[in-house]
Amino acid sequence: MPLMTSELIITIDGPAGTGKSTVAHLLAKRLGLEFLDTGAMYRAAALIAIEQSIDPANGSFLAIAIDESRLHFDWAADPPRVMLDARDVTERIRDLDVSSIVSIVAAQRQVRDVMVKQQRIIAQKHPRLVSEGRDQGSIVFPEACVRFFLHADVMVRADRRLAQMAKAGKTVDQQRIIDDIERRDLLDSTRTDGPLIRPEGAIDIDTSHRTINEVVDVMEAIVRERFGGDEFTS
Ligand code: C5P
Repeated sequence: MPLMTSELIITIDGPAGTGKSTVAHLLAKRLGLEFLDTGAMYRAAALIAIEQSIDPANGSFLAIAIDESRLHFDWAADPPRVMLDARDVTERIRDLDVSSIVSIVAAQRQVRDVMVKQQRIIAQKHPRLVSEGRDQGSIVFPEACVRFFLHADVMVRADRRLAQMAKAGKTVDQQRIIDDIERRDLLDSTRTDGPLIRPEGAIDIDTSHRTINEVVDVMEAIVRERFGGDEFTS
């Protein structure tokens, strides 16, 4: 059995629709690591705001409601399912009503404080992790072993989201998706707390003209080269 270090965190940040979740999940599988989708946590918080009629800009109310809603992941599933208490909201949080307010929710300091704390606790329990989001390499895990930053053209990103939604049986107008992505990018990159930025020293990857597998190939090669063969399961 090869000797593996106990902690190994890889972060993947970037704007909406760059393929982060899919890429992060596949990379984690190939390397035998676990996978954390932090966007799903902010989406679940936005769903809580919708369902409890809480103003998405009311950070202190939301932080309490998040705590009371027992937001967590079911780690028995792969990828882990997003849970509010015993309810699985993994699909529901992808709907456009959630997307349209999630960046307002995510801009609230009290909400980010709760999330960052939870993400670090998750990493203590799951220390061999690929974690993706907007602030993973800059704020949450600045000491991560490898930090990636993904980009892609906005049209490519919108088409990916459309395809994703079509696969889930949802039809949405392309312009609405483009507007949603552009609005979220602007809100995410201009907020005070944990803005979307390219972490200093991160490895840039443009995913516009690469398939998901090509992107994962590049990332896997970089990680394996950095660590040598013995660190991972295959
Ligand atoms: O990655 P995804 O598009 O699902 O993320 C939804 C939203 O959650 C983002 O637009 C952003 O506002 C917020 N988010 C964040 N910080 C993270 C992950 C997501 O603010 N680490």
